[in-house]
Amino acid sequence: MAAFSFNRIEIDLGALKNNFHRIQRSAGQQVRVMAVVKSDAYGHGLVECARALSDAGAETFGVAEVEEGVALRRAGLAGEIVILLGAAPESYEEVVAYDLTPVVYDLDAIAGLAAAASKKNGKVRVHLKVDVGMGRLGVAPAEVKSCVALLKRLPSISLRGILSHLPSADAAEKPEITRAHLSRFSEVLAGLKIGEPGVVHIANSAALIYFPGSRLDMVRPGISLYGCYPDALPARAQSAAPGLELQPVMRFATRVIQVKELEKGSGISYGHTYVTRRKSRIAVLPVGYADGYLRKLSNRAEVLIGGRRAPVRGRVCMNATMVEVTDLPPVRAGDEAVLLGRQGDAAISADEVAGWMETISYEVLCLLGSCNERVYLHPEMKR
Ligand SMILES: *Cc1c(COP(=O)(O)O)cnc(C)c1O
Repeated sequence: MAAFSFNRIEIDLGALKNNFHRIQRSAGQQVRVMAVVKSDAYGHGLVECARALSDAGAETFGVAEVEEGVALRRAGLAGEIVILLGAAPESYEEVVAYDLTPVVYDLDAIAGLAAAASKKNGKVRVHLKVDVGMGRLGVAPAEVKSCVALLKRLPSISLRGILSHLPSADAAEKPEITRAHLSRFSEVLAGLKIGEPGVVHIANSAALIYFPGSRLDMVRPGISLYGCYPDALPARAQSAAPGLELQPVMRFATRVIQVKELEKGSGISYGHTYVTRRKSRIAVLPVGYADGYLRKLSNRAEVLIGGRRAPVRGRVCMNATMVEVTDLPPVRAGDEAVLLGRQGDAAISADEVAGWMETISYEVLCLLGSCNERVYLHPEMKR
């Protein structure tokens, strides 16, 4: 039994599986879905989420680094595990030993991996990454042909796919940028022999929703698996991809540890940035920026108590946050407070928290998920 904390992140694995099925249905049954579980599954827990996704039918997984792939293999996960950032020379042997599939984007890595594989009389599968406009990882389009030729010559390397990544597929106002990137990718592929590139893939969540032509052989959803829309616009996404109704997977709950009455004119928390305008009831929550509930949320965010919204008053501290419950039915110490997710008929979405934090849902999920104890709800469990 873990040491007790008031704060808990609940992960709804049933919702995760439903999202996977909906994305698969939306992309089309002939399109493979790589479940992107990098960064501890966006804060939701690498192994638990990958297992649930594997149960749901996922056969390909995307992680950032080799150590995440190793953790998945040690947990018994089968299927293809693609290392999106590629491998460092120190980990080439592990890549071979654990049958991981690194993305490659330079000749040294290709040669090094080939040597590590042939030393073990093995074979290493790779995907070649090309940069068609992201300005991040990948070889230049003009280098693809020679890289493919090299990969084909190395007996201990098996080229399984070619990929790229899109920087602006969520930007409604400039679809022509993504169209240009997609056509650059098509040109690269057209320069290769039939069958040579293996599985071709470029679409993240935004592209698979807004650019159906980008789905190709495989799509790589991350944020949508976890129940958020890449541009924070559910209505826009659902009109582009009918039936793609995503369910939030993460919920962050704590409980009230004290309720007090303060007279009009009382300052709350460090710096007294909030002063009560009337006689007020204030609830203290044992959550703060050390738990990923950033100081930026001071005097901005709301939480749910008894299915009603309570505004944050004063600065968020390292381990405590005050909320006003004057207008709510009586609140007592021990009552549940929800900072993210549903309570009764009300809900606070990751996009809403992201708005208060001036960031995106991705960052909210990674942060809250990695700072707090997680518990897993299985589909057969009722909340
Ligand atoms: C993270 C990542 C994805 C997933 O992106 P989402 O916007 O979360 O769907 C896909 N491909 C690559 C290469 C990534 O790094």
